[in-house]
Amino acid sequence: MGAGSRSNEDRVETTRLAPSPTGALHLGNARTFLVNWALARRAGWRIVLRIEDLDGPRVKAGAIEGTISTLSWLGIDWDEGPMVQSADLDPYRAAMRDLARRGLVYPCELTRGEIEAAASAPQEGVHETAFAAELRPEVRAREFDNEGTNWRVVVEPGGVEFVDECAGIQRHEPARSVGDFIVWTKRGQPSYQLSVVVDDHRQGVTRVVRGDDLLDSAARQLVLYELLGYGNGPGYCHVPLVRGEDGKRLAKRHGDTRVEQYRQRGVRVERVMGLMAAWCGVVPRDRAREMSRNEFLDRFDLRTMPQGPIVFSAEDDRWLTCETT
Ligand code: GLU
Repeated sequence: MGAGSRSNEDRVETTRLAPSPTGALHLGNARTFLVNWALARRAGWRIVLRIEDLDGPRVKAGAIEGTISTLSWLGIDWDEGPMVQSADLDPYRAAMRDLARRGLVYPCELTRGEIEAAASAPQEGVHETAFAAELRPEVRAREFDNEGTNWRVVVEPGGVEFVDECAGIQRHEPARSVGDFIVWTKRGQPSYQLSVVVDDHRQGVTRVVRGDDLLDSAARQLVLYELLGYGNGPGYCHVPLVRGEDGKRLAKRHGDTRVEQYRQRGVRVERVMGLMAAWCGVVPRDRAREMSRNEFLDRFDLRTMPQGPIVFSAEDDRWLTCETT
């Protein structure tokens, strides 16, 4: 292969579908994945499937197979993978060794209670306890020599700014909102923040599309991009989550909203796609109709997708099931 074609190939944009196998996909997850997929297929981005199964106790048996089966049923496809994070922890260890040798991480055995006791009153809307700067020990260059304890990264004061394709201009200050956050957990695994950054980098991911519950994680991840010398980080598009009628994000309390549940009841995929189309502004909400995956793809446009949260209503459920009940 000549140098010219190589550099062309390097410019291919890449995105990832990154489900956590902590349960079955519900309609809200399906919507986020479908938006990610449609953006990628319309723009010619490569899609890698990555199974984020490092969430220890929350990972459920059978959820990987279930997720893949649901994505396939919806007609969501990918070009590479699945890559399963737990299959090989060495890339994350290598990143930890690098950070440790440069004096950017440190082991931390403080308990939650000790961290909470040192924290100032939480800021409104922030649910996480920020790790107070005075709890940080003196940090020196060292080896990453204990995988059985938590390790935190040194977060220097300063703003992190980026433009999110969906959520607009973002300004975050991780040193104030979260402080030194955990990059390696005492379970002997990288934290979500570290594993995402290491994987997005090594898989060549340039576009991240996901739910807006992860907007403030993006700031932490950009801190890690910088410290690991990975460059600027990907372009972000954080899509509003689907919520229940109570305004809370879709969960068990809203009934059984698993895609698989509708599938098993005989709901056709075109009907699910029709609801997704209404949620994504492809057709007006009060004029939902069955739609093929390809028609959805043809007509999807991020610019006309509603910017606010989507509410899954009892009427949506009735619309999905009206033919089968
Ligand atoms: N695995 C995460 C989730 O399912 C997504 C992480 C990400 O997209 O960065 O919520």
